[in-house]
Amino acid sequence: MQIYKVGGAVRDRLLGRPVTDIDWVVVGATTEEMLAKGFRPVGADFPVFLHPKSGEEYALARTERKSGRGYGGFTFHASPEVTLEEDLIRRDLTINAMAEDDQQNLTDPYHGQRDLEARLLRHVSPAFTEDPLRVLRVARFAARYAGLGFTVAPETLALMRQLSESGELEALTAERSWKEIARALMEDQPQVFIQVLRECGALKVLMPEVDALFGVPQPEAHHPEIDTGVHTLSVLEQAAQHKQPLTVRWACLLHDLGKGLTPEEEWPRHIAHEHKGLKLIKAVNERFKAPKDCQELALLVGEYHTHGHRALELKPSTLLELLQSFDVYRRPQRFEEFIAACEMDARGRKGLEQRSYPQADYLRGAATAARSVAVQPLLEKGFKGPELGEAIKRERLKALKAYKEQA
Ligand code: ATP
Ligand code: MG
Repeated sequence: MQIYKVGGAVRDRLLGRPVTDIDWVVVGATTEEMLAKGFRPVGADFPVFLHPKSGEEYALARTERKSGRGYGGFTFHASPEVTLEEDLIRRDLTINAMAEDDQQNLTDPYHGQRDLEARLLRHVSPAFTEDPLRVLRVARFAARYAGLGFTVAPETLALMRQLSESGELEALTAERSWKEIARALMEDQPQVFIQVLRECGALKVLMPEVDALFGVPQPEAHHPEIDTGVHTLSVLEQAAQHKQPLTVRWACLLHDLGKGLTPEEEWPRHIAHEHKGLKLIKAVNERFKAPKDCQELALLVGEYHTHGHRALELKPSTLLELLQSFDVYRRPQRFEEFIAACEMDARGRKGLEQRSYPQADYLRGAATAARSVAVQPLLEKGFKGPELGEAIKRERLKALKAYKEQA
């Protein structure tokens, strides 16, 4: 049997990027031989094994044939006769379809190296359209390598458009889509992911609520970039530049969905867009089964981001309601993430990226003031049950009044 390094490890070594996980392909072996060498099978009917020591993935060279919709709709054929070239041709991009032996000899039948130099994300073969997940993968790689100057080859974008229009994207499971979305949002330029999806028509299918923001104007005085879609991309870009976690990036993407519902007669104003957007945020959250912390933050940021921006003008009672809504006493981290999302929103405006955001520290100070109210003295005064709750609220309000006066 011959063993080769394949996929991302080869690509990233040639790009001079750190290699994190290594995928291997094994040519000329049978399942029985692998098991005899101590490899552990990953799945029952999938020719992939884990190395007994390193735990890295070793896949038997295989060919694939599409036999139905979605990912389940593939039949695999793995046998010792399948060649390296046959295995590589089923892969998504030319830069992902190179293999390397232990002497670093490259096998590159589909010109991945040429495309690395040309900075092109190009499909290997027309079979690209057999798996709709590749639309998301290519957009994710575009987000990752945009900084190196990579773009999607026009022919590949055309296939992505064909896939988007064919209805195949709907066959993707929430789990597979979310995995790609989450990884893409954590790349250096997540806005490129959304942009590429939009260019090929996939955004309209996957997240029509986000797609609808393009072409929707906002008041120029607050939003020099005017377009709500362009603003959303900038907010995401800011979130990545400020190394925000996934929760914040997800909330940034969805914070303004309500603006897509404003009747044109009301443009460029968006009255109550915060509240109107909630049902859309909920729908997107559920469509991809986003993790609970992402779902929660997106809804809270959607509802309260304008409060964040107006923090310094809020009445103490409104400030208190805001802090209560976030349960800032038990969930301080979530409130920090809210503040971060608001700040990214403010910075994601053309020409205002560097403007300071004093609201952030003001909100932190308010949370500290409200949290400093001690419960013990109230218990000692004999308050209990709902009355205790009311007493705590009164004290917190007092603390916030004092905070506002001194700030
Ligand atoms: P990453 O750095 O994100 O891990 P990767 O290229 O290693 O990138 P993996 O998801 O680890 O991506 O997959 C390993 C290889 O398997 C890819 O390089 C590609 O050749 C192939 N591959 C994975 N998923 C697909 C797919 N859906 N369609 C075609 N080829 C795929
Ligand atoms: Mg990999």
